[in-house]
Amino acid sequence: TRKPLIAGNWKMNLDHLQAVAFVQKLHWTLKDAAHETDSVEVVVFPPFTDIRTVQTLIDADKIPFALGAQDLSTKDSGAYTGEVSGAFLKKLAADYVIIGHSERREYHAESDEVVAAKVQAALRHDLVPVICVGETLEQREESGPTAVAVAQLRAALEGVSADADVVVAYEPVWAIGTGQVASPEQAQEVCAALRTVISESLGDAAAERTRILYGGSVKSGNIASFMREPDVDGALVGGASLLADEFAAIIRYQK
Ligand code: 13P
Repeated sequence: TRKPLIAGNWKMNLDHLQAVAFVQKLHWTLKDAAHETDSVEVVVFPPFTDIRTVQTLIDADKIPFALGAQDLSTKDSGAYTGEVSGAFLKKLAADYVIIGHSERREYHAESDEVVAAKVQAALRHDLVPVICVGETLEQREESGPTAVAVAQLRAALEGVSADADVVVAYEPVWAIGTGQVASPEQAQEVCAALRTVISESLGDAAAERTRILYGGSVKSGNIASFMREPDVDGALVGGASLLADEFAAIIRYQK
């Protein structure tokens, strides 16, 4: 059985001072409600400039959240101005890194090849890549609900070994930040297709073990309906992950 994973992608929100206040508030909100850390894994993805601060806070207060970055370089070190190495993230006790988010594919022209190289970079540094895939509305109308996500995941898993630890996030572009959430059935259909891709690329054991998240306008009011689907193992939350009460309610979807 796969442990549910609830992830907060802060995107370019919350500076390092705001991050401290936010993580403390989230922690206390969950603590008051006796959040069972055993039943759901929580990961926060702050901006790079917050990671050191959030890591120190999590460590000092024994806050049971894992930490991730929103991107990394394909390279490990060297003359790559502005880039951040997976080696540095690992040293800051990051466990996860988001790769191929649609906002990076769109605004930074990240191709499937770049995404695949970043997946390799993450695995080289023992970071779990959270591989994001998903179609635009135009692509859904043109080639159906699964084709784009399936092709993107196939490309990202090229050269990945069967025992690698990865997470997949299905984020339909038309549902991100729009309030136009996918139906649980739509999410299930694509997540099931992605599990088949994992099985074909990495084998049945990896497909059974790997968590597939849904992302796109997830809120406390709709999370439970997604989590009931057999191939949805968690959520990658944007806007609603910036509100402590709301994100805490998402984490406690079972209650
Ligand atoms: P929203 O939850 O704001 O729709 O964003 C989803 C997302 O892109 C998470 O990575």
